[in-house]
Amino acid sequence: MAIILRTDEVTKVYGNLNAAVVAVDKVSIEVQQGEFVALVGPSGSGKTSLLAMLAALLSPTSGSLFIDGQELGRMSERERTRFRREQIGFTFQANNLVPYLTALENVELMLRLNGRLDGTGKTRAKDLLVRLGLEDKLNNLPKQLSGGQQQRVAIARALVHRPAVVLADEPTASLDTERAFQVVETFSNLIHEQEGGGIMVTHDLRMTKYVDKVIQMVDGKVTRILEDRAQIDSLASLSSFAAAEASSQEFDSQLVIPDFARPIPEYALIDQA
Ligand code: ADP
Ligand code: MG
Repeated sequence: MAIILRTDEVTKVYGNLNAAVVAVDKVSIEVQQGEFVALVGPSGSGKTSLLAMLAALLSPTSGSLFIDGQELGRMSERERTRFRREQIGFTFQANNLVPYLTALENVELMLRLNGRLDGTGKTRAKDLLVRLGLEDKLNNLPKQLSGGQQQRVAIARALVHRPAVVLADEPTASLDTERAFQVVETFSNLIHEQEGGGIMVTHDLRMTKYVDKVIQMVDGKVTRILEDRAQIDSLASLSSFAAAEASSQEFDSQLVIPDFARPIPEYALIDQA
């Protein structure tokens, strides 16, 4: 499998010398074609900043980002805008649906912008919404949908044009647990089917059940990478166990991969050499 997304020591510093915040600190990660990755870590660890740079919405202070072999920093503003529209799908915490378009029209919009709203495209837009459990809501406006339903429309919109990478920031934040599992499973299936790469930020370690790799950030740095299936499965099931034991509030604060999955060299170390 080829590498679809790569960052090389990417760094983001906000503010000036007096009040600088190093939000992302020399992060080097890789995502393979068809790979679905969970990006986890405490609030403020730099996940959204990293995603925004990968979406070519924010410039890095230093380092480089590559998607499908192309370096984002080497593109002109015009090329970058086009690349973003064609090769990147994203859903951010605020889902930014167009208020006067229906659910289906919001999804179709990505195809329309790319000049690809033909019969096949229309079928795909509808199929995605059906697979995400929105068959009854195709013609509803965003304001006629719950927060969770809006999030699912945003996921369909991020995938419909078969971008090289799909970036989703907390896509399950307003879903109940059962629905969150369903949505993440569908999301995972779709990433695997279309052989792009996917990165999902999540604060819920139970959702790692459906991912191929878990990347943890703390204080702007990558502190852990899990790629071993058995390790990821035990992380997911231990998190489910913890969630069942704890009140939901306590569980929400458990944002760092517990010690059971201490790094061992062959799977967990990011090669910083
Ligand atoms: P996360 O998504 O993991 O919560 P963020 O990327 O949103 O992390 O934030 C990382 C750090 O950068 C935090 O300390 C945050 O306060 C800071 N930060 C984020 N966006 C900005 C901004 N536009 N200006 C200044 N600081 C910011
Ligand atoms: Mg965030």
